[in-house]
Amino acid sequence: MSTLRFDGAEFTPPPGMKLREAHAHLPALGREMTQLSLHDCISAPECVSRVAALASRMESAREPGWLLASGVRVSGWKDQRWPFLTELDRACPNRPCLLGGFDHHSGVCNSAALAAAGLSASSSSQGDGLVVRTPEGEATGLVLEAAFEAVRRAVPEPTPEQWLRHIKAACDSLASLGFVEVHDLLSPVGLGESLAKLDDSGHLPLRVWLYPALADLGATLTLRGRFERPGAVTVAGAKLFADGTLNSRTAWMLSPYRDPMPGHERGTPLISVKQLAAAIDQTRAAGVGLAVHAIGDGAVRAVLDAAASRPAPRGSPTLRIEHCELIDATDLPRFSQLGVIASIQPCHLLPDIDVLKDQLPHRLDRVLPLRELIDSGCRPGELLWFGSDVPIVRADPSDSVAAAVLRRRPGMTPEQAVAPEQAITESEAWRCFSPTPP
Ligand SMILES: [Zn+2]
Repeated sequence: MSTLRFDGAEFTPPPGMKLREAHAHLPALGREMTQLSLHDCISAPECVSRVAALASRMESAREPGWLLASGVRVSGWKDQRWPFLTELDRACPNRPCLLGGFDHHSGVCNSAALAAAGLSASSSSQGDGLVVRTPEGEATGLVLEAAFEAVRRAVPEPTPEQWLRHIKAACDSLASLGFVEVHDLLSPVGLGESLAKLDDSGHLPLRVWLYPALADLGATLTLRGRFERPGAVTVAGAKLFADGTLNSRTAWMLSPYRDPMPGHERGTPLISVKQLAAAIDQTRAAGVGLAVHAIGDGAVRAVLDAAASRPAPRGSPTLRIEHCELIDATDLPRFSQLGVIASIQPCHLLPDIDVLKDQLPHRLDRVLPLRELIDSGCRPGELLWFGSDVPIVRADPSDSVAAAVLRRRPGMTPEQAVAPEQAITESEAWRCFSPTPP
């Protein structure tokens, strides 16, 4: 359990309160916990020296395999630059090395890692991905999108024992923050059986709801008899994407970005209302819920339109919208009218403030309208849920409570807050973490 101090205010869970983390990625969290964490790094030279220190420790311990690190956020570094390929080659000369960006869409690697992925300083872009070059044409080691994925795929898969250790580490770390329930969004098909193994040996410290990708729902349900454990491991629904992300300007907006990606003035819709309605039908028929990733107000509206076309019979499994970073005023009352859950991670406001102010300055009043959601009938913990999206950001619930109450980052003045009229009280914010009643 932790306490966050923020410009004189202090955020601690109410004594004895049990918490639900409504949006997490357990396998990725577990994997990152076993990697070098660069979340608190402040410059490229510091990053390089930490990599060099770990590389030499691995050498002296004769530890095989890749050197992996995560959590790079260059925009927050003093020098605002990625380490160069040559720097990483010197720091980690004897094995492949990959440092992942916090957003899981970018990273930087050494020559051995580029080679393992079939890329090189002279390879051109890979699919829709990119090996970033210097003006002289040399690869910098920075890999984006599909090129980043190519390097990531070249990393050997964890063994079954490592995989189980990762999942246990992730669950233990969430339990240590006071969580008794966690929802895993985009669960791999094998996750349920790992969790059941932990539960059977008395090592599962919280209950887990699984949301496999809609494409994996059938395979997951076929196996459910082997791994579901009443009150501990449950297939709760399927996960689907309606849009992209704010940082990449692919979140689906009702109005254009100030500086859009060419051809994508309002972001990138990934699905139609008709397809969303079909997904509601499909999951309802299977007796499970549906969680739809929708960050932009256009994506949120599409999900609500689909929900309106498929009125929920009493007691039908839940439809939840993940993220909801912007909600248009006309759509806001529809959450409580349609019984759709707003599953929000207010902590994302803290890193997203800059891109919101830069790209959507005319829509800042529609960012995370928590006050209006509650006032329109979404009761905290019932139709308004909080989570973190860990490991994209850390899971500490105090971050989301502070963001929901203060609407700004530490060090910012109250005048720099985003839509301060949408602030909610600290006690309302904690209630959004209330576990699901049995
Ligand atoms: Zn997520």
